[in-house]
Amino acid sequence: MGQYRLRCVSDGSVQPTYSLSCPHDNSLLRADYQVRQMEPKSLPGIWRFLDWLPVQGIIAEAEGAPVTYRSRGLAGELELENLYISFNGYWPERGAKNPTCSFKDLEAAPTMQRLKERGDNPTLVVASAGNTARAFAHVASLTGQPLLLFVPEKSLARMWTTMPAGTGIGTGTVAGPGQVTLIAVQGDYYDAIQIAEKVQSLPGFAPEGGARNIARRDGMGTVMLDAALALEQIPKHYFQAVGSGTGGISAWEAALRLRTDGRYGSFLPRLHLAQNIPNAPIYCAWTGKEHEAPCSDMFDDVLFNRKPPYAVPGGVKDALQETRGEVYGITDRQAIAAKKLFEESEEIDILNAPAIAVAALEQAARAGTVQPKDIILLNITGGGVARIKEEHTLCMLKPHIIVSHWEQAVQFLEGKK
Ligand SMILES: *Cc1c(COP(=O)(O)O)cnc(C)c1O
Repeated sequence: MGQYRLRCVSDGSVQPTYSLSCPHDNSLLRADYQVRQMEPKSLPGIWRFLDWLPVQGIIAEAEGAPVTYRSRGLAGELELENLYISFNGYWPERGAKNPTCSFKDLEAAPTMQRLKERGDNPTLVVASAGNTARAFAHVASLTGQPLLLFVPEKSLARMWTTMPAGTGIGTGTVAGPGQVTLIAVQGDYYDAIQIAEKVQSLPGFAPEGGARNIARRDGMGTVMLDAALALEQIPKHYFQAVGSGTGGISAWEAALRLRTDGRYGSFLPRLHLAQNIPNAPIYCAWTGKEHEAPCSDMFDDVLFNRKPPYAVPGGVKDALQETRGEVYGITDRQAIAAKKLFEESEEIDILNAPAIAVAALEQAARAGTVQPKDIILLNITGGGVARIKEEHTLCMLKPHIIVSHWEQAVQFLEGKK
């Protein structure tokens, strides 16, 4: 199990186990695991990497995990000889069974487990443009842990689940989605975050922490661990569509652990992070391009995070610098074409976000930034929604209330007590 000390990246100081911030600066915290070599366990899903997850126990029913496979279709189209795909969605023919079809499933399960181990059973507060909320709703339905979700009204269509009410672990004794409270917010993701920030400081509630939460990052880091196991080496390049960039930080941190392990290579993968322009703050910060006015009607709207953890110690900028990374700005048109190319060549549907990463890979291959023989890992961060619908009935989670101000949310929660 994951024995670790929690350290500030900036100065290495050890902090209390459940801290989310450092005392002297705005550095991220990082788990410094006792185990130095990856020893996969015979456990379901991501739990096989338990040594490098900040939890003692597991939620066995949360069996989502990355699946790494060698691409033929897309690899052929792009003339890449060693293209590997980490598929993080639902595609049972390949063994991919993420219950809510995105790599947020990898974050939600260890976060909820860690919260349980904390012992005081707070209500976890999550603000999300949809995929994160869906993933947390699924795990909370399994375990019966209380969860409060803030989701922009526009994203409510993403709030589906395959778990009918009352089908949690030990059905009858735990609540199923009944413990999940969904509050819709008039506004965008940023507005949802701001309301969540007010509520999570009230007694009995706990912030989920976003990029500051090591359980989220190390859960996502299993993408790199699974790939290294499959390839028997660290890939040379890593492509991912990012909003907050947390997945990029996670890939970098997992690679640092693998480098220490020593058996998978002594280098770090180059991070190739992609955003949908014009809503692309990480792209603008890294390339020095002017911010354009944000657009509310984008091909992808899950990737827009107005305050990514960019310049903080251990954040996105450090990850890019240390890995000699690149950031790509992808237009709607390029993303639409890339989505079609991927779906036709790999024969599985994907979400819009990962199409941004496919477009970035296409650009890099054309520009010679990656060479035809390079070992490349493409993170398909979500997919298989059409595929899961063939087997499951999707139930929509309905909001308990729609709010425009945090006071309304607090009033509603007071009334529920
Ligand atoms: C959240 C998300 C991303 C981006 O995640 P980061 O936290 O920025 O790494 C990419 N794709 C999908 C499908 C997502 O849900």
